[in-house]
Formats: sequence, structure tokens, C-alpha cells
Amino acid sequence: MIGAVSLRCEACGHVPTRLVDAPYPFVCERAGDGADHLVAPWLDPHRAVFPTDEGRPFVRHRHLLHAHAAALTLGLGDAGYLAIEERLHRALTEVDGRGFVTTPLVRGDFPLPHEVWVKDETNNVGGSHKGRHLFGVLLHLEVVRAAGLEPSPAPRLAIASCGNAALAAAVLARAANRALAVMVPTDAHPNVLARLRHLGADVRVCAREDGVLGDPTVAAFRAAVAEGALPFACQGPECGLTLDGGKTLGFEIVAQQAAPFERVFVQVGGGALGSSLARAFDDAVALGALPTRPRFMTVQTEAVAPLAAAYERIVEVVRARTFHPLPQRGDALADALRDEAVAPLVEAVLAEVVVDRPHWLPIWPHPGHSAAHGILDDETYDAVALLRAMFTTGGWPIVVDEATVLEAESLGRSVTSIDADATGTAGFAGLLAWSRAHQGAPERTLALFTGARR
Ligand SMILES: [Zn+2]
Repeated sequence: MIGAVSLRCEACGHVPTRLVDAPYPFVCERAGDGADHLVAPWLDPHRAVFPTDEGRPFVRHRHLLHAHAAALTLGLGDAGYLAIEERLHRALTEVDGRGFVTTPLVRGDFPLPHEVWVKDETNNVGGSHKGRHLFGVLLHLEVVRAAGLEPSPAPRLAIASCGNAALAAAVLARAANRALAVMVPTDAHPNVLARLRHLGADVRVCAREDGVLGDPTVAAFRAAVAEGALPFACQGPECGLTLDGGKTLGFEIVAQQAAPFERVFVQVGGGALGSSLARAFDDAVALGALPTRPRFMTVQTEAVAPLAAAYERIVEVVRARTFHPLPQRGDALADALRDEAVAPLVEAVLAEVVVDRPHWLPIWPHPGHSAAHGILDDETYDAVALLRAMFTTGGWPIVVDEATVLEAESLGRSVTSIDADATGTAGFAGLLAWSRAHQGAPERTLALFTGARR
């Protein structure tokens, strides 16, 4: 039996070696030439249907996940996959008091002209959405083990994280009884560090060095992976399978919504959340479960906004290459960019971005500070998927100032009673900023409260 989801590299089209010969297809075998190699799950819409039954996300949507396809490919069957999910669900409940279940989608009664819905991930495993990404990876690891393909001794796991991803990783590793090394920055919250150590993680604090660009935790993580650790990561280019589990968030939203959203606001750090969400919406459209995709709005803070900078750079190049007059900004610009007269030009520039990532997506030069510290990644790892999602849906990037970040946190909490932190409400900050400038009709909008306050 073959599943509906296969893997391929989105930069070079390479299809990974068969799982039975190479069971860890996390990165493209051709990576390392400056191109934006990314092994991503691809759903064949002719081989799947969007599920209408109820159930836990990794059960209900399993036919849309690569982890399930891997179980089928390696001979475990549907029953084998379900047994693994059930065992991990019980173990997670013991370790964290909860396994993966459908999270709430609630309407917030905000003093805005727009209908605002909030997907609440603050009570998810580990206290954020990050566990979804990693649970997809963990399911894959357990499938490989059950198929008898795991090396002995079992490779240890590694992750670089500033908090939520590390917590989720430690919970999952503990539940699966796997060794985990966590690279954390010097400003990680003491409560987070205590919890990580309590869960048995090997915590390694990594300091920035003067004059060295880039995130030191990522450098340490890559060194560990080079020495044989498995990337238990929430960055797509480091571990493409992280996009698989993340898609359950989008599938769930599609299944829960009473009517399609016109606009979705997503906070962007490394970019895997938005990338997974966009992919899930694409799949849902291809399966006929969603009539059209919402405008995809990405949100970053003034402190660190590499994705918005890349968007501006691309628009500048498109302007220089087209005879069509392009509006200055906002929906008008975004709609002109997806018009059939201009869209091929945009796509051509995106192809250049894929081939020469360092030129188009340079590392953000100045480390910044914000209450939304979880989205200060100086590199948007999954940038191309987000750029494409914006360019093809008529969305665009919003850069919010710190006052709006703080206002969104306090307003978000007081109106919804969801105990989210400023990173978790950063997408909503973008919604606030947009709402103040927007002059069109009221819209049906969605924001994601991704992480709980510590
Ligand atoms: Zn590739």
C-alpha cells in the first residue's frame, strides 16, 4: 500500500533515496551549493480525500501526512501507524498531562470592525504549536524504529531553540525515551531551562560572539548533526519533515471553520509555522475542502524583519522589470503582483531566490530585542514558501512596532482569556496594525495564539 504523500526537494526537484535504504530524509542530498534546498512533503490530491471524521489530529489527518505514508511504505500498515500514535499519546499524557488533541478555534470579541478568530495553541503539548512540528518528525522516527531500520545505538536528537520548541522537543523526547541535546541562547528563561533539565534534556547554553553573524545555537546544532545527531528541528531546511506535523494546524482550522477566512495573520520567526500553514491550505484547496486561500499576511517586529526585507527587495526588482505600473503598497500592490500580467515575473524572481539564497535572504545584520522574543530569528529559514504564499494569495508582510506588540499581548489576553505571551500574540499585533490602516470592508480574519506565558 502506498500513501498519498511523498517527499521532494523544492529547490532542485530531487526525490530522496528510498526510505528502506536511507530512513532519515531530513535534508536534500544535493544541499550545500547555496541553493535553497528543502525536502518537503507533497500531497497527491488524486490519492487522498479530506477527512470528515473526528479524532485526534495525527489520527484524523493521517492520510494527509508523510509519517503515515512512511508507515505504509515500510510495511507497518495503517494499524502499525495507529499503534505508534496511540502509544506516544499515552506516554505524552504521562509526561505532560496531555497528548495531541484538536485545539480550540474561538471568536474574540475585539473592539475592531473585523470578525477576529483565534486558534489557541497555548494548551497544546509543551505549551505551544511547536510540538506539532516535532511530533510529525517523532512519528517518522518511531516508524523507522518499528520497521527495524534504526541504527544501534539509537542516534541522539538535537535542537536549537529559544524556548517553546525546546520545551516541546524535551517533552516528546522524554515520552519516546530518546536522548536529546538542546542548544539554547544565553537569555533563555530560567523557568524554561529548569523544565528542560527536569525532562532530562542535555542543555547547552550558546553565547553570541562579537563580530560573528548568525545564531550561535544554530551553529552548535549543525555541528551536533554533523557528528551524527538527528535534527529534531523546527526549521524546514534543517529537517523538512518538520513541515509534515505542522500542517495538522492548517488542516484542523479548515475542518473547524464555519466559513473560509479572508485573511490570516501569521507571526514569522524561522518560518516553519507559516510555511506549514500555507501548505495545508494549498492541500485543502487541492482536495476541495477549501474554496480559496485567505490572504496570507506575515508578521515580524521592527527589531528583526528579514522576510519583509526580502519581500521589498523582490518587489523592487519586479518594478524594474515590468512596464505595468505597480501601486505603492498593501492589497493594491499585492493584487497587482498576482495579476497574470505580472505573476510570471514574480515567479521568475522567486526562482532566482531559490538558486541564490544568500544574495536574496541575507542574515539580519543586527540582533534585536522585542517582547516577542520567539520570532527574532535572524534568518527566515522557510522564507520561499512564505514569499510564494504572500505573492499568490494577495497577502503581504507587516512589520509591527514594539508598542503594538505589547498592546496585542495585553488586548489578546484580556479579551479572550487565553494566557498567550507576546510571541504568541505577535500575529494578532499585525492584525491590529493592519486593521488601523485598512479602509476596505470588514473582513473575516484569523490569528494564531501560538505559545503560553511562562
Ligand atoms: Zn535539493
